[in-house]
Order: sequence, then structure tokens, then C-alpha cells
Amino acid sequence: MKCSYNFSAGPAVLPKSVMLRAQAEMIDWHDSGLSVMEMSHRGKHYMSIFEKVESDFRSLFNVPKNYKVLFLQGGAIAQNSMVPLNLLNGKKANYVVSGYWSKRTYQDALPFGDMSIAASSESIGYGKAPDLNDWKIDPSASYVHFCSNETIHGVEYFDMPSIKTIPVVADMSSHILSRPVDISQFGVIYAGAQKNIGPAGLTIVIVRDDLLEVASPLTPSVFNWKTQAENQSMINTPTTYSIYMAGLVFEWLIELGGLSAIEKQNIKKAELLYNYIDSTDFYTNPIDIKNRSRMNVPFRIQNEDLHASFVTGAENLGMIGLKGHRLVGGIRASIYNAMPIEGIQVLVDYMKDFEKSH
Ligand SMILES: *Cc1c(COP(=O)(O)O)cnc(C)c1O
Repeated sequence: MKCSYNFSAGPAVLPKSVMLRAQAEMIDWHDSGLSVMEMSHRGKHYMSIFEKVESDFRSLFNVPKNYKVLFLQGGAIAQNSMVPLNLLNGKKANYVVSGYWSKRTYQDALPFGDMSIAASSESIGYGKAPDLNDWKIDPSASYVHFCSNETIHGVEYFDMPSIKTIPVVADMSSHILSRPVDISQFGVIYAGAQKNIGPAGLTIVIVRDDLLEVASPLTPSVFNWKTQAENQSMINTPTTYSIYMAGLVFEWLIELGGLSAIEKQNIKKAELLYNYIDSTDFYTNPIDIKNRSRMNVPFRIQNEDLHASFVTGAENLGMIGLKGHRLVGGIRASIYNAMPIEGIQVLVDYMKDFEKSH
């Protein structure tokens, strides 16, 4: 088997042990005579899997009792429309723009009503996330939305907003479960699975109970949080296999010691890479130190002509997915929970060699 390190932004690396377990269970799950893929979502086998996935997620992420956890489809981008449909309630909403994804979320929301930008770092090229103190919150708005980790620009919020006047809605797609979060500071948290949770197809939405009462009557039932909450996310057939795989990832994280333990590893991994980038003029990362993402590390080579050969050389050594997003170019290493520190070491060693030979 070819050994590789996958630095893709998403769909992304999964823990080897999780995939081996999925492989072992694939054809006959726990002597049921069935693959999880073949199970009725309402049958006793699948319900036992599903209930454990939800309870493991709740304990891992410390989800308070007054929040529902929904297992939906449509990706994070579907939530760009579902958030206003479920929450706007005829009023206004505030959006913080800190990179590509939060800007796109704002743009997707525009047709739904009176949307305003509470803060933006677009004019400075997203080199730093708008400071929490500079967010202009309108207390009559229904919510304020932000993206807590910008996957393309590599900008992460480490302090989370603590706003009492209106609910905070967060797109955590690319760093959910990378560290503990105080969920009680949020009205809604959502994340597509394919970055830090499991295979694509699943979108997890965490929503505070009192926010389930104001959906627009135009909200499609599959995307109505309340309807889904009342039906165990099964108003339609859920992404059964993706949910099962996410459950294996949750078990892996719990065994590892939970989110404080994975956070320590993530800090070490990110430091290894950023410290090397900062130690040389050959590579640069443009993001303000206090917002540098632990999950997505974009960097450039001073001589921009070398990016393509850097990526090809890395691929030849088994390092996949290092090409920067087409919008920003350069190089990007996504180093999610499942990327072992050995992968970062191999990358840094390659970066050193590449620098020497160029
Ligand atoms: C990947 C990503 C998205 C888009 O996810 P889809 O599953 O394609 O809808 C949105 N927001 C962030 C922060 C992301 O990383």
C-alpha cells in the first residue's frame, strides 16, 4: 500500500485506525449480516449506531442539554440559506466578513432580507480577523453570523464572541472538534463533515432550543431545524454511512482523551510548521500571528514561479493536496485532527530541502 500524507482542505484526511475499523466492519456489522450502508435508518441496528453517535458527539463537544444536535445534508453552503430561513423572522441580520467563506455566506443571505456587515477585513486582504470589539452589532438584528476558521485564507478566531444581545451563529466547518468550545456562547453552530469530522455528505447543526420557534413558513421541511429536531433528523433518509463514519471518528477522539488532548497535538503541529516558515525568508505566511489558523496553513514562496514545482515535488514524495486554493494560489497545508505530527515533520523536512536546492 502506498503511504501518503493528505494535506487536502476537504474532503480530507481521516484517522487510519478509523478506516481500518470501517473496513473490518464494512460487509458484516457486528454479526448483523448487514453492511451499515444496507441498513434501514429506522431499524434497530442503525438506531443503536445513530443514538451512540449523537451521545458521543454531545459528550465530546460538551453540548448543553438545551441544544439540539441535527444530522443534515446540503453542506455548510445549504446553511447559508437555512440560517436566514430558520432565524431571520422578518428582521435584520449582521454578518462578519473575515475571508472567502464568510463573504459567500453574507452574499447567499442577501435575498432573504435586510443583511448588514458588522465588520470586515476584506480591505486589508483578510490578513487578520476583525477584532471582536470592532463588531458593530445591531441589537434589533435576529443574529450575527461569522466563520470561526476561514479555510482558504487560514484565519482563525481563538477568542470566541460573548454577545448577550443577539444569538451568535458560527460556521465552524474547518475547525470543529479541534479544541474545546463554550457552546453556551452560541445560538447556532454548524459544520460540514468533510474537514474535521468524516466523509462528505453530512452537516452537523447545533441549535439552542429557543431558536427553533421562528422559522419562515417557506422553509423546506428537510431544512427546517425544528421539524428535523422533532424527527431525530430523519424527516428524510439521513446520510447513514457518513454518520456512522463520523461516529467512529468521535470514538477515536474520545479514546485519545477528548478535545483538550487533540488541542495539545494541534498546537504542536501548527507550531512546528509556522516556526519553520517564520525562520526563513524563503517562505511566508501573511496572517496576523494571533489569527493564524491551526488547521489551514497557507504559505507562499518568495519566488512565486516555484509554487508548481514545490507541489509536484511534494506529490512525488507522497504529500498530497498542497496546492493553494485557486482563488489565492500559493501553497496550503491543511493539518486537521487526523494529520499525524509525523506528516508535518515530513513536510517541513521537504520544505528545508526544497529551499536548499532553490
Ligand atoms: C468547506 C467549507 C464550506 C463549504 O462546505 P460545503 O460542504 O461545500 O457546503 C463552508 N464553510 C467553510 C468554513 C468551509 O471550510
